[in-house]
Amino acid sequence: MTVLEPKTSFEVSNKGFYGRFGGAFIPEMLYPNVEELRQNYLAIMADPTFQTEFRALLTDYVGRPTPLFLAERLSNEIGATIYLKREDLCHTGAHKVNNTIGQILVAKRLNKQRIVAETGAGQHGVATATVCALMGLECIVYMGEIDMERQQPNVDRMRMLGATVVPAKSGSKTLKDATNEAMRHWINNPVDTHYIIGSVVGPHPYPDMVARFQSVISEEIRTQLLEKTGHENPDYVVACVGGGSNAAGAFFHYLHEPSVRLVAAEAAGLGVSSGHSAATTALGKPGVLHGSRTILMQTDDGQVTEPYSISAGLDYPGIGPLHAHLFDSGRGDFYAIEDDEAIRAGFQLSKLEGIIPAIETAHALAALPKMNLQASDVVVVCLSGRGDKDLATYSKYL
Ligand SMILES: *Cc1c(COP(=O)(O)O)cnc(C)c1O
Repeated sequence: MTVLEPKTSFEVSNKGFYGRFGGAFIPEMLYPNVEELRQNYLAIMADPTFQTEFRALLTDYVGRPTPLFLAERLSNEIGATIYLKREDLCHTGAHKVNNTIGQILVAKRLNKQRIVAETGAGQHGVATATVCALMGLECIVYMGEIDMERQQPNVDRMRMLGATVVPAKSGSKTLKDATNEAMRHWINNPVDTHYIIGSVVGPHPYPDMVARFQSVISEEIRTQLLEKTGHENPDYVVACVGGGSNAAGAFFHYLHEPSVRLVAAEAAGLGVSSGHSAATTALGKPGVLHGSRTILMQTDDGQVTEPYSISAGLDYPGIGPLHAHLFDSGRGDFYAIEDDEAIRAGFQLSKLEGIIPAIETAHALAALPKMNLQASDVVVVCLSGRGDKDLATYSKYL
């Protein structure tokens, strides 16, 4: 493992970099939009009236603070003290709404009337359509035509919430094509539209802005752990990483606490070497993806490799630049979890604790037996979402 320099920073630099990752590698046409956001996001977020409104919605609409639950039966099974941070109890069933609430309030302060977003499995689209309904803003969600067929219930949810779902019919008709078309929409409507990105990915300032909105997760963990154990620091914080937003939120207030190990679970699909995987740090190399320099899965000549995971939320060929830096610097431990291991961990939590986790979240749980935990260790697992949406997949294993 790399020995960390005491001066190693995990905060974003002025130019939007985490170590050698990050930045804003965008077409010139997109520059005015991204620059407007970059110049304003910190001041908007620091404004006390913004904070009051954001906090009130997190409490009264999202249902925060989410509980920190001591999972006693799971703890006995694993042989360490395991706490679960219950983001699955957020309104809409996952952590994503923390970010969409924050971004819609930013959009309103920038006088935007319309929201555009892309979605793969539909979870981010639903979280975006939800807050647009709440605020009465027009919502346009681009979704690959193939994904629309695969994820019909989420398409119906978005439409019921008043959003327009536009099929992306180009290329492979999946997430990356939806992203391209959403970008094109934003380029053509720079003045009245805000683009809500769903994870700590994309050009600066998105990774930092999304991490700050999600940082409410670790802010609450610190207070809750202090109340329950007398210490605000656990030995480990564990989260799954698709783009990395629930992990960034769970890690945020521990980034500069070297005694807290940060553990990321990536989706290995059918196996790291199987050709059907989304284990980015195991398989990827540095390159530029969706506007930032990060680690991504690519061919020798730099074409993005099609990822695979049983879990739609982790089926992404890259990770956010913060996570690339955590990996590169040795600050984070990255585990590659196969589909079957995740499914087993999902069933284990359901039977031991009466909580059916999202399959994304089950990847984080499956890292626990691999971590060589001691009986005295205190571990917090970020339970990013609930498993209702995944029943059709789980039921194949019943
Ligand atoms: C979308 C999603 C993820 C993956 O996104 P991150 O940005 O990596 O957090 C994880 N868990 C759930 C439940 C999700 O919906």
